[in-house]
Amino acid sequence: MTKNDSSKPTNFIHQIIEEDLKSGANDGKVVTRFPPEPNGYLHIGHAKSICLNFGTALKYGGQCNLRFDDTNPEKESQEYIDSIVSDVRWLGFEWAGDIRYTSDYFDTLYEWALHLIKEGKAYVDSLSAHEMREYRGTLTEAGKNSPYRERSVEENLDLFEKMRAGAFDEGECVLRAKIDMAAANINLRDPVIYRIRKAHHHQSGDKWCIYPSYDFAHGQSDALEGVTHSICTLEFEDHRPLYDWFVENLPVPAKPRQYEFARLNLNYTVTSKRKLKLLVDEQKVSGWNDPRMPTISGLRRRGYTPASIRNFCDMIGVTRSNGIVDMGMLEAAVREDLDANAPRAMCVIDPIKLTITNMPEGELAWFELPAHPKDESMGIRKVPFTRNLLIEREDFAEVPPKKWKRLAPGEAVRLRGAYVVRCEEVVRDETGEVVELKASFDPQTHGANPTDYKPNGVIHWVSADNAVPCEVRAYERLFTEANPDGDKERDFHEFINPESLVVFPNAHAEIGLKHAAVESRFQFERQGYFCVDPDTTENRMVFNRTVGLRDSWAKIQGK
Ligand code: ATP
Ligand code: MG
Repeated sequence: MTKNDSSKPTNFIHQIIEEDLKSGANDGKVVTRFPPEPNGYLHIGHAKSICLNFGTALKYGGQCNLRFDDTNPEKESQEYIDSIVSDVRWLGFEWAGDIRYTSDYFDTLYEWALHLIKEGKAYVDSLSAHEMREYRGTLTEAGKNSPYRERSVEENLDLFEKMRAGAFDEGECVLRAKIDMAAANINLRDPVIYRIRKAHHHQSGDKWCIYPSYDFAHGQSDALEGVTHSICTLEFEDHRPLYDWFVENLPVPAKPRQYEFARLNLNYTVTSKRKLKLLVDEQKVSGWNDPRMPTISGLRRRGYTPASIRNFCDMIGVTRSNGIVDMGMLEAAVREDLDANAPRAMCVIDPIKLTITNMPEGELAWFELPAHPKDESMGIRKVPFTRNLLIEREDFAEVPPKKWKRLAPGEAVRLRGAYVVRCEEVVRDETGEVVELKASFDPQTHGANPTDYKPNGVIHWVSADNAVPCEVRAYERLFTEANPDGDKERDFHEFINPESLVVFPNAHAEIGLKHAAVESRFQFERQGYFCVDPDTTENRMVFNRTVGLRDSWAKIQGK
């Protein structure tokens, strides 16, 4: 995180826009776009770009377009389009006008390719892909002109028309901009602007069998939409001269400018659609929205709120220096939001029976607890107390270590919001395993003036007679290594955390959660933040652990 003063993270794009507004550039307009390629689901890195593009437009009273950059039909699909649309909306942003597609501009782009040919600035090259690579040269060595570079305008027009009409096979020829094979910047060595792909396109159907390259399509689409600030990640810095070359050499209606910022890298995960797709295809996770995935839909299912993701993106700032952000920061962002906004509840995740011997069978006492300790407006919740209770197995120790603040034989503990109970008997099954605890409650320990009774500590509990049986899915980070792609010898798959999902099938939540809606979020007291998973059915609730109450990762790692 870079800060220019103690409170505000840097956003150098905003500084540039403020200069532009001062100097009256772009007639005072600010138009941005978010340009995803629909070849996968969006991830947390995209959230940074979304917050930057939409947030900038909002901040300066401008507009932000949503444009699908759909020039690779084989890798793209409607499923991805739908998921991206839903993710952007869920994050809380709305685009200007209709959803746009680069494919909306294929006619114009084709005309502009013809324009370049007519100007002698583009040619059809018939070198093979392999030969083209050889001719391209290297970082230290200039490239060589293709033998097809001096084809006449007429011949190029004829060949390009044939390309469009499907007369050639894929790879037989391409259209290239004629710039400079000796340019120091390899992107300017006659880049490919059209290639043959005999593929059905999700938007344009079978109209085209030639498709423009990213470089040829992107800036021109920006120009057509009147984008003023075309914001992309630093890998495109070396493409900027090419972006500008097209804008200079084509009859475009506006002159957009490209600005690059550092992409978000987050530790303990991967943020590359290609790698995330591998995890999905190889069923290492349950799908793109598996709660362990750094995808927007995965974070959503995990229990992240849109506000927590937006706050995180604000916190990390926008700079031009690449760095790695700690996953702990993202977790802290959701913890902060849920601490303030999630109602409290009790849930015993791994239960053991606690029988209250002085509470008659069938009797029931209701306790009122605040839904939120710091926010009275959330009201109260009613929790039933009966003879048969459940407590967390790990809240009992037969031989307690020093300073044990929970239940142990002969010891007393407060049941949160209810009575102090003292453990009087430990019941075992035939294998010797502890299966039940017997205790009695002290009626003096609840109410306006509980007796001056000092139990060791406070534990959570639920009534076994009146609770919601549920499954709790406890998630940890998906990788055990901070930088799972960082090892050249070992593949990122090797670092998948085998304990990234632990299922507790026999959890019991307090009865008030019975009808909690999918995606509603709670703090389970003493446990962490949880949300209702869409796998919930009428008969069985499923909760996902979003994050623990405190950052426990460092401890788990033994650091
Ligand atoms: P990936 O590398 O995951 O495939 P991409 O850049 O190919 O991502 P696009 O769909 O082209 O994915 O991205 C849409 C926009 O999001 C682009 O402007 C891109 O620069 C931006 N973006 C992608 N990844 C990140 C990231 N990690 N941090 C910030 N912005 C990103
Ligand atoms: Mg891309």
